[in-house]
Amino acid sequence: MVPALIFAGERAVVVGLGKSGLSAATALRAAGADVSVWDDAPDARARASEQKLRLFDAKSDSLDRVGCLVWSPGVPHTFPKPHPLAVRARAMDIPLVCDVDLLAQAEPAASFVGITGTNGKSTTTALTAHVLKSSGRRVAVGGNLGTPALDLDPVGPFGTYVIELSSYQLELTPHLSCDVAVLLNLTPDHIDRHGTMDGYIAAKMHVFDRPRFPAAAVIGVDDPHCRAIVERLKGTGSHHVIPVSVECAVPGGVYAENGVLMDATEGRPRPVVELAALARLPGRHNWQNAAAATAVARVLGMHGPAIAAALSSFAGLAHRQELVATVKGVRFINDSKATNADATEKALACYDNIHWIAGGRAKDGGIASLAPHFPRIRHAYLIGEAADQFADTLEGKVKFDLYDDLETAIGDAGKAAFKSKKEGAVVLLSPACASFDMFKNFEERGDRFRAEVFDLWPESRL
Ligand code: ADP
Repeated sequence: MVPALIFAGERAVVVGLGKSGLSAATALRAAGADVSVWDDAPDARARASEQKLRLFDAKSDSLDRVGCLVWSPGVPHTFPKPHPLAVRARAMDIPLVCDVDLLAQAEPAASFVGITGTNGKSTTTALTAHVLKSSGRRVAVGGNLGTPALDLDPVGPFGTYVIELSSYQLELTPHLSCDVAVLLNLTPDHIDRHGTMDGYIAAKMHVFDRPRFPAAAVIGVDDPHCRAIVERLKGTGSHHVIPVSVECAVPGGVYAENGVLMDATEGRPRPVVELAALARLPGRHNWQNAAAATAVARVLGMHGPAIAAALSSFAGLAHRQELVATVKGVRFINDSKATNADATEKALACYDNIHWIAGGRAKDGGIASLAPHFPRIRHAYLIGEAADQFADTLEGKVKFDLYDDLETAIGDAGKAAFKSKKEGAVVLLSPACASFDMFKNFEERGDRFRAEVFDLWPESRL
């Protein structure tokens, strides 16, 4: 746990008692702060009481002398409607901060790499931390990904925090200064929480606030919103901007060209690594993540060969095109994180001869947009509430069967893939759906896929 001693004696109210809220309340209490807590849900308040956390009474307690509201990013405070506690705090000029902001205040001498974007945040955060660690640096990785900020091991003045930042968190980090700020890409998302696309972009832009000289900004330039931001930052001169692209050569940046990752951060482009050789980073979307991680590592003093070695040894993240096992030449791939057609499209684009397990709770638009990839699919194994709807879309184009459970679908998909003897055959769980009709979350769905593959083919454990 990071010692948050600067908050000793300060009055703080923690709002929202999920993982990060409870972690913040515990760290503040350990530091000697005067902490009380609130959650709109009675059962969350009851759990907090069991942990001997003092409850704030949102109806009657005063906010006098409260230094900050530690706000859980998942709790809406402005849209779709203002939260009464946030309204009261703002009227009294009390800042709303999240646990990442407390970390930034508690560890002012450490370096911060903040990573945001619509897609690829978790992969890039884990990959960047892996690359930096390989150079012997003291690195802690967390934030929106994995460990809550204040539960991290403190890295001290020479260490580096690599932090995944969601747009929700970036609205709650008024003290965070990033040495390197990464913005991967921007497409419309979370408009319910930010009001408009402009509101969403404004939240993401906070990653560039309070740059620490000589701050760097690593920005993906393959979408128009990010390109406009590059121009804006170049205009202000606040950051050394390093563009990243998988579509074209970018002077001064890091980019993919003919399947090779190129580093032009020092002018003359130099090859770093063959992207196709990075087995745990399949697909062009992952090339963007690899390029961004490379740019961060270059800013922090690493050289090409060391970066290439670290990119090659990255184990990948669970549930994102995770290679679970190879049985009789067939790869079993867990892409449970693909909860919509856009994400599944990225996975389908990576393979031929696909035995595709899909379905769950459908998202708007279904899978019609995936039609260009249908010729790669040998057979579809449809599960969950969306099975009938997906069957209608596939009718006459892709052979399919419907299943009541994931396990039987995996068994049949495996047997068919072995029988097909097609080169590069894969069994791919990439559902293009939410998981909540059959599972607690996408992690449980992916864990069940992995466990079932190991159960059916025990020799397959890697
Ligand atoms: P996030 O943390 O932003 O949700 P993840 O790294 O968890 O991103 O990846 C989630 C999914 O998003 C992946 O399975 C893939 O389908 C897609 N994805 C990953 N990286 C990118 C990227 N750079 N651009 C577009 N899509 C991506």
